[in-house]
Amino acid sequence: MFINELTIEELKDFFRKINEPSYRAEQTFLRIHKHLALNIDEFTELPRKLREWFSENHYFPTLNLDYYEAINDKSDDRGTQKFIFEYKDQKSSKNRIFESVWLVSEKRRTACISSQSGCSLNCTFCATAKIPFKGNLSTWQILQQVYYMIRFRNQTENTKERLTNIVFMGMGEPFYNYDNVIKAAKILNHPLGLNIGSRHITISTAGVIPSIERFIAEKQPFNLAISLNHPFNEGRMSLMDINQRYPLKELLKVVKKYTEVYKKNITFEYILIPDVNMTKEHINELVKIAKYIKYCKFNLIPLNTNFNNWRTPEEEEVLAFQKELRKNGILAFYRGSPGKKINAACGMLALQKKEMLI
Ligand code: SAH
Repeated sequence: MFINELTIEELKDFFRKINEPSYRAEQTFLRIHKHLALNIDEFTELPRKLREWFSENHYFPTLNLDYYEAINDKSDDRGTQKFIFEYKDQKSSKNRIFESVWLVSEKRRTACISSQSGCSLNCTFCATAKIPFKGNLSTWQILQQVYYMIRFRNQTENTKERLTNIVFMGMGEPFYNYDNVIKAAKILNHPLGLNIGSRHITISTAGVIPSIERFIAEKQPFNLAISLNHPFNEGRMSLMDINQRYPLKELLKVVKKYTEVYKKNITFEYILIPDVNMTKEHINELVKIAKYIKYCKFNLIPLNTNFNNWRTPEEEEVLAFQKELRKNGILAFYRGSPGKKINAACGMLALQKKEMLI
């Protein structure tokens, strides 16, 4: 493990073993996770000898930017930035690519980050499913996506605005990389790090039931979002392979348990694909699901890709769908498709530079 992915407790152990006082752990943690140091030379509080020893023995890696694009026009999603990172592992010479998006809205600055390089799921509507899966990201690779974007923005923008939210909604299935994702979330939440409130960190899953069970049992404080996407078992199966392993009924059971234990809303993400999951029948079934779960809200996401000859719904269709849900007392939100122009919206990660991933 590299030193830029150790918790305070792990750093304390680390310093104890080399007979250094335990406050070195706080100093090191602050440098890495608050001041976002790029290398050990920046650890100015440490005695020079220790720094030199560190540099020789505990070099830590950071990310290389492979591609960058931003929306600078006058549209609503002005300010969206897309980053593609590349990391070559020197030992295995494996090349990993993963993407992050910086999203701007009136009140929020959100970092959307990846948990895997590619994705092992096979959702029929999602571009990330079309590229080879390269594996889990380590904790430092998850953290450095956020740190890179902040450093980049501090250098390029005049305003030093604060990051307010983090969403694990980039490439990959966070709950197939549970340990590294939760560890990264804890470090992002830590008062000596970026100190992002746990309610401002959202982990999204396609429905990995054992990990959701574990999340509940551990009482993890972060927000949970479930990519529901279809209200019927058969229909969901045709969109999302994972439904074979973890069927809808079982998924809803564990979601209900979550709301009972946490006493708060679960967020359902619901992709909108005309003729596939937007009819009256689908709405009726969604109403039943919402009644069963009780504490839930829906984020409506219009389809952003055009695989399988599907089309993106018109704005009026989206609003009509939202209105039907609301008429039935369901909290349903629609926030557009920020980043679509630069392939940075939901389900579009990997549309750029696809050739590099193969
Ligand atoms: N694997 C996790 C994390 C990814 S989140 C999960 O499935 O929750 C990405 C979100 O974008 C998911 O809610 C997914 O349903 C949605 N999405 C994927 N492809 C999309 C597309 N083409 N158009 C709109 N939304 C899409």
